Amino acid sequence: MKIWRGLAVAGLVVGLGGVAAGRVEAQRLPGGVRPEHYSLTITPDLKAATFAGSETIDVVLDAPSKTITLNAAEIEFGAVKAWAGESATATANAGILRSAQNDNQRGGGAANGASDAQDAVVTLDAAKEQATLTFARTLPAGRVTLAIEYKGILNDKLRGFYLSKTKARRYGVTQFEATDARRAFPSFDEPALKATFDVTLVVDANDTAISNTQIVSDMAGPAPGKHTVVFAQTPRMSTYLVAWLVGDFKCSEGKTDGVAIRVCATPDKVKLTRFALDSAKETLHDYDRYFGIKYPMAKLDLVAVPDFEAGAMENFGCITFRETDLLVDKKAGALAAKKEVAETVAHEMAHQWFGDLVTMEWWDNLWLNEGFATWMETKEAAKAHPKWKYDQDAAVEMDSTMDEDAGRTTRAIRARAETPDEINESFDGIAYGKAGAVIGMVENWVGDEVFRRGVHEYLTEHSYGNATAEDFWNTQARVSGLAVDQMMRSFVEQPGVPLVRFGSGVGEAIPVTQGRFFLAAPTTRPVGNAAWTIPICLKDGGCKLLRPEETMLTGTTGAAFFYANAGDKGYYRTDYSVGQLKAIVANAETKLTVEERIGLLGDRWALMQASEGSVGEFLDLALGVKADPNATVLESALGKIGAIKARIATDGDRKRLDELVRREFGGVYVGLGKGGRHESDENADLRETLFEALGRAGDPKVLAEAVSVTNALLAGQKPADAAVVDAAVALVAAKGDAAMYEKMLRVAQTATDPDLKEDALHTLTRFQAPELVARTLEYAVSDAVRSQDRGTLIARLLSRRETQDQAWAFVEQHWAEIERKATENSGARIVAAAGAFCTVERRDEVVSFFGAHPVASAERALAKSIDSINDCVALRAAQEPELRQWLDAHGGQ
Ligand SMILES: [Zn+2]
Repeated sequence: MKIWRGLAVAGLVVGLGGVAAGRVEAQRLPGGVRPEHYSLTITPDLKAATFAGSETIDVVLDAPSKTITLNAAEIEFGAVKAWAGESATATANAGILRSAQNDNQRGGGAANGASDAQDAVVTLDAAKEQATLTFARTLPAGRVTLAIEYKGILNDKLRGFYLSKTKARRYGVTQFEATDARRAFPSFDEPALKATFDVTLVVDANDTAISNTQIVSDMAGPAPGKHTVVFAQTPRMSTYLVAWLVGDFKCSEGKTDGVAIRVCATPDKVKLTRFALDSAKETLHDYDRYFGIKYPMAKLDLVAVPDFEAGAMENFGCITFRETDLLVDKKAGALAAKKEVAETVAHEMAHQWFGDLVTMEWWDNLWLNEGFATWMETKEAAKAHPKWKYDQDAAVEMDSTMDEDAGRTTRAIRARAETPDEINESFDGIAYGKAGAVIGMVENWVGDEVFRRGVHEYLTEHSYGNATAEDFWNTQARVSGLAVDQMMRSFVEQPGVPLVRFGSGVGEAIPVTQGRFFLAAPTTRPVGNAAWTIPICLKDGGCKLLRPEETMLTGTTGAAFFYANAGDKGYYRTDYSVGQLKAIVANAETKLTVEERIGLLGDRWALMQASEGSVGEFLDLALGVKADPNATVLESALGKIGAIKARIATDGDRKRLDELVRREFGGVYVGLGKGGRHESDENADLRETLFEALGRAGDPKVLAEAVSVTNALLAGQKPADAAVVDAAVALVAAKGDAAMYEKMLRVAQTATDPDLKEDALHTLTRFQAPELVARTLEYAVSDAVRSQDRGTLIARLLSRRETQDQAWAFVEQHWAEIERKATENSGARIVAAAGAFCTVERRDEVVSFFGAHPVASAERALAKSIDSINDCVALRAAQEPELRQWLDAHGGQ
């Protein structure tokens, strides 16, 4: 799955995932039963929002038993039978085309053919999402076939088999990860219980159907006005990767390495599929070579779904996406939108090997899926689009992940995940960002080709099966001959970020200490003695493995310039001796890469928040990079100055900080000149970054230009200066009136381009006039907004200082309605956004409100939000006088 990035709150990474309703107890299946094959016939009724299911499951019993327990949720059971031996269809399935009529008789029909078939009594345990089938006569050990007739509902909660709507019609689509296949078919719904699947869909005559594999037969009937679509048998795979979609999809088609690739959307949007198709074709070819294992399915479909909770989902051979993550205008689309699509396609396709072909044994090792896909998406997208700065994005992302991981309430990469709530909450910045960074650190240490060979061996050994963390790092250790197992274990099993401190050294040895870093003042830190095995890679000096007990970094070159995180590939914070730091800062622009400069800024900013260094020292460093030729570095510095304004400064000091930004950066902006046909991308990026920062700081010339750019845009004219359009609209909206709001609302409601629609929707949250904030909040819970977007709109208003009080009052007053109408994920998003408050009063309100109204899958999110508020309060108390002093000394009024 790919986390959807619609919300970025300073210092917070918001974790998403499908969410279960209510609290559910730990509930693994009892074991002793292994499924081998499912035969499913599903007949949806889109109008009634229901479906009928008929399935047979071939299982193997380890011992004789009178009961079999499997997973089922919101399923109404009909006839259930079992008999010893194989089903008639299971052996005949592979490669044989069956008539639609025969096919339709599979489930129940097969049961009639078995002479020793017996009926089951079904007992439901709704809390455990399980059904127990009890039989009068003991079933023998060995092969048993179950035949189950059942009914289910097409829900509106974006999970299981659910309903999605456009203006034109209804669709039935699936999202099973993590634990929702059980809502579509009774199943042994755990990742290690792999089986093969035959899927048959009985749909309306004019409807299309898509599933994991290619269609092997499509015939009219059985009822008038219906047709029956039979899909080829899948390879062995986990239940959470099964998928099907019913409705009216149109596709663009291509082929790579003999594999048919389609990118599909609702008919009005098929024109936006070309870019993703090109990306998918190139990525498939690259991955075939990288993994040294050919893509394991005969076809690959990538399908955009109008209502979709996550960013995308890697169903084997049938990847589903939020529309914004797959559809973009190949010619006119914004660069940011294209980047997102290329990256998401690369992420989900990496899962076809890492996740689908080889799957984690259990959800506690979810990081094996998500960490790898997160790392691979950047590698592949950067290779395909070398000018799009993916490596810089990765450096920015690692910085924010380390901030998230430096809280007291973080978790280890591998952590308990037993209940659906715990499993869903583990789709967070640790499983994605941190695990991805750790994998990148391993590759950087052992070398690209050695790492690739390790990946190939691991995948080959576990193809169509399951694996654990140990399997991965033992293989990498064996192939590389390095202590990858020790290194990875220390990062995967211990929570938190290492801080590595270097002392002044002589010759070839440098004193070094390490410990766990907390983004909090020393007095509030827990004590502990965590230590890691860390490959420390020196600038121009190779990597040295620092073990927990070591206090000297030996074999260093003793060169005058010492920088201990080459390429910004290491997942650790650094602190240097005074002399080392002075040399680094003095040479930052000439000797450090862009990623290293981003890392340096991040480390100093983090140390300041931990009360090591003052806000003034950090501002000196940030102003020192004001003429940096790279926009990402500049943006990083300005973003942190913005955080000082929001989290540390008083109202009076906020004005003085604005003046400082105008004074220091105004000249740099003017020096960049105007945009034009021959402007370099880098210059345009720098101008955009400074335009936005100066506008926020109240620069009158920039604000006047923002108004004229926005007016032209709203009047339907092509913007004269494309680089600053987004920033201009955001700036003007902050002070915008009802007339402008109306225009933006109309775009949000009528745009057919998903990217433009989402931009407009998000721009609504920029308006700060109280009556417009109220309108956006009301709009968020109205039927005009898709349920996947409700929580995001509220969370965005809640995360900004200017609107958070009003948004909080609304949340408190309208909670019942929000809970009822939004997807449960929205609740977790809102809890996370509440962490942007910075007062003791609000903290207490947040604690008591969510104490009284617990939110599913948001237990850790709440703890983190409270942590974050506490840290902000402490930071303000410690640094606010420092800030005033520094501003006094730097000429502010
Ligand atoms: Zn993923």
